[in-house]
Amino acid sequence: MKNMPLQIVKTVLALLLVSQSAGAISVKADPLAAKGCLPRLKVADAEAVIKRFNLAVENARPAEIQTLGTTLKWIETMNDNRPLSRAVRQVLYTYNFQTKIGNSRQDPTHAIINRNGPKNYGENVAQLAHELGHLIGNSDSTGNPNPEDSTYIDYVNHMGPKNYCLVSTYADDNSHEQFAEVFAAFVTRPELIKNNPSRACKKAYEFLSTKLFAATSDAAAVRCLNRQSAIAKRAKLPESPASAAVKEQAATNAPAASAK
Ligand SMILES: [Zn+2]
Repeated sequence: MKNMPLQIVKTVLALLLVSQSAGAISVKADPLAAKGCLPRLKVADAEAVIKRFNLAVENARPAEIQTLGTTLKWIETMNDNRPLSRAVRQVLYTYNFQTKIGNSRQDPTHAIINRNGPKNYGENVAQLAHELGHLIGNSDSTGNPNPEDSTYIDYVNHMGPKNYCLVSTYADDNSHEQFAEVFAAFVTRPELIKNNPSRACKKAYEFLSTKLFAATSDAAAVRCLNRQSAIAKRAKLPESPASAAVKEQAATNAPAASAK
């Protein structure tokens, strides 16, 4: 009985420590990445592009259909106005929107997007792009799941093992999250990868702009970058949480940020 309060204090402290160390900042926390590179599409236009990627939605609000459509429309724009072949599966793949707290996740035929209350990840372009990054990561060049010949493997072969481009502090846990975060940054907030000083990010950019996307992608990324820096200046936005976290991490952990 005497030890109870101390135990409670210890438990609370332990929980606080766990929640701090698990508090990695991902690309979706960046307000400009959350909005992406294009103004939001109308619902009908969004539905048309969702169809071109052989995707479907379940339990989606109109604004979520628009956000997914806008994400995909920009991916087409970066890819010479065509869907990215590795993202188009033969079997319909569904974005399922849930009013839940917790990490969004994948199963073989669904991306489950948890809205997380006021964070509203269903309307966050970077969140929807991150999940598409996992779909692409699992797929081969024909767009179908293939663990022996996946885009994850191509990416790691290009980068070298454990050579991470830290576009966010969430991007270094493993090669799958690393690829999904780098992909999300490329299509929603190219500044995080194109202007990142690490050699690993230059390699990652090269993979995305020459091996995954058509040659139009670099010019499109520059267009997005210019648009977003004008928006940031007009709105006097402070430095994004993801950029600040990357810089802090690079300063305290230089070897992890440099290429081998
Ligand atoms: Zn993920």
